[in-house]
Amino acid sequence: MIVYKFGGTSLANATRMKSVADLVTRDDEQKVVVLSAASGTTDTLIKLSAATAEEGELIIQGMEAQYQQYVSELFDYTDCKQAAERFLEYTFSSLREALGKSLPRDEKWFVAYGEIMSTSLFSLLLVERGISSAYLAALDFMRIQEGEPDMESIKKLLPEIMTAAGDVKIYITQGYICRNEHGQIDNLRRGGSDYSATIIGAALLADEIQIWTDIDGVHNNDPRIVKKTSRIDELSYAEAAELAYFGAKILHPLCVRPARETGVPIKLLNTLNPEAEGTIIHRENLAEKGGVKAVAAKDGIIAINIRSSHMLMAHGFLRKIFEVFEHHKTSVDMITTAEVAVSLTIDDATNLDNIVAELQDYGTITVEKGQTIICVVGAFRKEDAGIAVQVLNPLRNIPIRMISSGGSESNISVLIDSQYKQQALEALNKDLFGH
Ligand code: ADP
Ligand code: ASP
Ligand code: MG
Repeated sequence: MIVYKFGGTSLANATRMKSVADLVTRDDEQKVVVLSAASGTTDTLIKLSAATAEEGELIIQGMEAQYQQYVSELFDYTDCKQAAERFLEYTFSSLREALGKSLPRDEKWFVAYGEIMSTSLFSLLLVERGISSAYLAALDFMRIQEGEPDMESIKKLLPEIMTAAGDVKIYITQGYICRNEHGQIDNLRRGGSDYSATIIGAALLADEIQIWTDIDGVHNNDPRIVKKTSRIDELSYAEAAELAYFGAKILHPLCVRPARETGVPIKLLNTLNPEAEGTIIHRENLAEKGGVKAVAAKDGIIAINIRSSHMLMAHGFLRKIFEVFEHHKTSVDMITTAEVAVSLTIDDATNLDNIVAELQDYGTITVEKGQTIICVVGAFRKEDAGIAVQVLNPLRNIPIRMISSGGSESNISVLIDSQYKQQALEALNKDLFGH
């Protein structure tokens, strides 16, 4: 069993969706195909959910025209085309009806239609091609509990639903969307289809999870920011997890975890160039391959400094501080300590004011927004000398706010003001990778 995931750009128009169909039907292996929404659709649906009735009607008209065009190019035969048109009519009338409700509306209900549309159209395309496939509704098996995948339920529900759907070669399902513990429609956060694919791969103990996107694998720097980057052949789970968590957009921040826990390899492949080798993420023998592999950047970071002249080294002090973050369900990314102060970072400002108010009990608090974590990933063995110098030297002209190293053997991170991000990524690109 192989899990294939195709992202929004791979489904951006009818021609791309046809290429995806070619790709998944070129062999006879059994597979689960996980699809994102066509690119732009999730953003549009988010806007729609918050729009006034008049604005919303214009947004729906724009989407309707775009999807009608999509359908007119996707199908060759009238019966499938008509079925697709009826499906669109039904979808847009549901969205119109929901637009009649007063604000605030349930954004998660709206965005779910993005993935439902792409998978429904894709299923019809396979019907047109005479390929036996089954449509699995992610809302029937993808469960989360307190925002985390509920693996026990998924492992039970998914095989049951697959068995009920019959023994077909291709199962098609939605990425990103799920239900929470209250049965409400929810999602795995932006870019979450990668996470759906690895959760499914882990639940089924698949042979491989293939994430197909618009680039030939994981690159050693962010191609959106620096001019020249190169593809990485292989990464360990630990390295890939750090890169994803610290900003490499090609992977959802948490999607490596299920694969890592079950040992299912992940391949990153390019829909626009299917024969290219890509990147494999698997258990790797770190002892054999030392050194820096890649750099990523995560924006929107908030640094919080807690300064206390007498309490810091008292036992229990750090516990009390972390309890404040735990209480507000806010995770801490980076932490550094000194005798008189602790600095830490968060990326979720939802409860910032309450967190700061509670922290006042423990010292003087300063908050700096607009920070970026630059994360350098590789196999950094404890016994190797010179790695920190190699990472920090290229950054010698940039003010560094925090440094974190030694937490794992795969990551050295620094915190800088976001205005220096481009300069930092370019300097690291030049010195570490010779670009
Ligand atoms: P999809 O819609 O297929 O999920 P994404 O846009 O989420 O695709 O992810 C692919 C994009 O991630 C690439 O087009 C690239 O611009 C960006 N990206 C950022 N960092 C990296 C990196 N280190 N390696 C490869 N791509 C990256
Ligand atoms: N469609 C969702 C998004 O745009 C999920 C995904 O693309 O993975 O975030
Ligand atoms: Mg993505």
